[in-house]
Amino acid sequence: MMTLDRLQRAVGMLRPHELRLRHDACPLCRFAWQVRLRDEEMGVRCPRCGASAVTQSLVDVLQQLPLNLAQVSAYELSAQGPLVKYLRRRCRSVLLSEFFPGVEAGQWLDGVRCEDVQALTHADASFGLCTSTEVFEHVEDDAAGFREIHRVLRPGGWFVFTVPLDLAKATVERTVLENGVRRNLLPPEYHADRYRGAQVFCYRNYGADIVDRLRTAGFASAEIRRPRAQLFGHARAVVCAQKSLGKV
Ligand SMILES: [Zn+2]
Repeated sequence: MMTLDRLQRAVGMLRPHELRLRHDACPLCRFAWQVRLRDEEMGVRCPRCGASAVTQSLVDVLQQLPLNLAQVSAYELSAQGPLVKYLRRRCRSVLLSEFFPGVEAGQWLDGVRCEDVQALTHADASFGLCTSTEVFEHVEDDAAGFREIHRVLRPGGWFVFTVPLDLAKATVERTVLENGVRRNLLPPEYHADRYRGAQVFCYRNYGADIVDRLRTAGFASAEIRRPRAQLFGHARAVVCAQKSLGKV
């Protein structure tokens, strides 16, 4: 059901002249209609579960992978939202976490586990699937984060995630570390984070070479996949990386 909170957010996002309805099933909840509140990927929503075009792209790609979610222990790098609900319904188990600056990793804050993806507290080979949406552009040392996701995945495990991605370009680092001090190379870019009600610093703009970064971090394969359908012209490329089936 649509909560008052979600209704308020929908009204806040609405541009009346861009409002459209379309007959198209949501990959998360199978509801048959989609609504466009405004002509942006975050403005395209499933009216029932609230999944945006980004989340629907991720789940559509996830459903094309050779993964039986009912047997999978999943780890999602957020603690709320339509993707969390979907994973909880479908997977054998789901662990959730959020990054809270200043809170020690492995600690709990208001019922939410705190983790820093650059140094996870989980044991090696704990999960068959890790997911995240719009996280890694905000991680200072993304190479460390990718290595940690690889470490906590089981052999053959999948890392399926989205970041803002410009496939026509190479990754642009927006900052550089000089003598232990981080300096902006480009004007600071911030993205809205609804969970913390804050703007979060963006360290880089990813390009097609993100798959090279994943292979360097240890993944046996890494590729960019497209969802099967476009929603009002919006579809997000999804990054899929698999850990080797062999012992690593
Ligand atoms: Zn839905």
